[in-house]
Amino acid sequence: MEQVSARLASLSPSETLAMSQKSQELKAQGFNVINLSVGEPDFFTPDHIKEAAKKAIDDNFSFYSPVPGYMDLRKAVCDKLKRENDLDYTPEQIIVSGGAKQSVCNTLLCVVGPGDEVIIPTPAWVSYMEMVKLAEGTNVLVKAGIDQDFKITPAQLEAAITDKTKAIILCSPSNPTGSVYSKEELKALADVLAKYPNITIIADEIYEHINYIGKHESIAQFENVRDRVVIVNGVSKAYAMTGWRIGYIAAPLWIAKACNKLQGQYTSGPSSIAQKAAVAAYNGPQECVEVMREAFDRRRKLVIEMAKEIPGFKVNVPDGAFYLFPDVSALFGKSFEGKVINDASDLAMYLLEKALVATVGGNAFGAPECLRFSYATSDENLVEAMNRIKEAVALLK
Ligand code: PMP
Ligand code: GLU
Repeated sequence: MEQVSARLASLSPSETLAMSQKSQELKAQGFNVINLSVGEPDFFTPDHIKEAAKKAIDDNFSFYSPVPGYMDLRKAVCDKLKRENDLDYTPEQIIVSGGAKQSVCNTLLCVVGPGDEVIIPTPAWVSYMEMVKLAEGTNVLVKAGIDQDFKITPAQLEAAITDKTKAIILCSPSNPTGSVYSKEELKALADVLAKYPNITIIADEIYEHINYIGKHESIAQFENVRDRVVIVNGVSKAYAMTGWRIGYIAAPLWIAKACNKLQGQYTSGPSSIAQKAAVAAYNGPQECVEVMREAFDRRRKLVIEMAKEIPGFKVNVPDGAFYLFPDVSALFGKSFEGKVINDASDLAMYLLEKALVATVGGNAFGAPECLRFSYATSDENLVEAMNRIKEAVALLK
C-alpha cells in the first residue's frame, strides 16, 4: 500500500520550484516561456571559484569532509563575519550544510518540537512554514502588507509572542518582498525579543549582498539578543553558486553542536569540492559580488518602472534581493473567456498560459494578494516579459 507518513502528507510541495519546473517543461515543448519564477542569479559562477573547485578535484578532495565542514571554510566564514559584519565567531560555531535551505531546516529541527510556536513575519519564503511543520511546530504568521513595506512592527511582534514561542525567522533582505529592515527597525525588534530569553532568532541573511540601500545590518549586532541569534547565510546568491549547495549557520555553541549531531546522522558534511570552491569565494576577490549587485539594481529599476505602468499593479520599491512583489488584488474578480481570477495563483497561471511568463502567486508566501517576479534575468527578457504581462492583463475584463 502506498501510504506516506502523516508528517509528509502535511507538507506542501515547494511552489517556487514547482513553477520553475512547469516553465522548463513548457520550454522543452517548444514554448517561448520567460521564467521569472525561481529566484537564482542568472550569472555564471566566477572563474576563480571554478578554478578552486577544479584544483580540489585534482588534489583529491574526494573523501568525506568533517561533518560541520572543513576547518579552512569555517575559518573563512569567521573571517567574513568579522570583515563584513564586525561579528566575532569561532569555527566551532559554524556548521556548513548543503545550502542555506538545509541550514534553516537543521536549526528548526534542533530547536523546535511538538507544540512549539515559531513566529514568521509574512510574506515569507515558501519553505519556512513547511520546515516548521516538519519539526512538528506551529506556525504563527504575522502579516505585514505592502502599506507597511512588508515589514512587521515591534508591537505586532510582541502581540504574537506567547509562552510557547520557541523561535522567530527574520529574513532581511527578504524573499519574496525585497524589503530590508534598517538598523533602527532591527534594534526595535531586538529590544522586544530581549525580554523573552527563550526565543531563538533565526536571521536568514542569504540576500545580504544584494542590497541597494547600503550596508547590511544583522540583528546579531545587538548585545541584548546576540547569544540567541542563528545567522543563516551561504554562497548561493552572492557568488552565483545556487547549484553548488553550500550554506552555513553561525550560531550559539549549543545549537551548532546540535546541528552537527543532526547532520552527522542525516547528510554528513556537504560536498568536499563545493566547500573548496566556497573557500575561494570568501577568501578571494570580492569585485564579482558588486558587479552582479549593480546588474540587479539596474534590472530592479527597469522592472519597477514597467510594473508601475500595468493597471491593477500596486508596486513598492524593494531595497534588496531580486524580487518584485506587487499587490495585484485590484485584478481579482476579473476574467478572461469565462475564467475568473480569484487570487494571485490564478493570475500566475493565467500569465503562464496567456503571456508565457512564469511568476509565483503570493499564496504560498502567505500573501494571496501579491505576485512574485524574480528579476534575476537579462534586461531583454525583463522588457519582453513585462510587455507580455501588460498585454495579458489588459485582456482581463
Ligand atoms: N533562504 C531564502 C530566503 C531563500 O530565498 C533561499 C533560496 N531559495 C534560501 C534560503 C536557500 O538558499 P540555498 O540555495 O543556499 O539553499
Ligand atoms: N530562492 C529561490 C526562490 O525562492 C530558490 C527556490 C527555492 O528553493 O525556493 O525561488
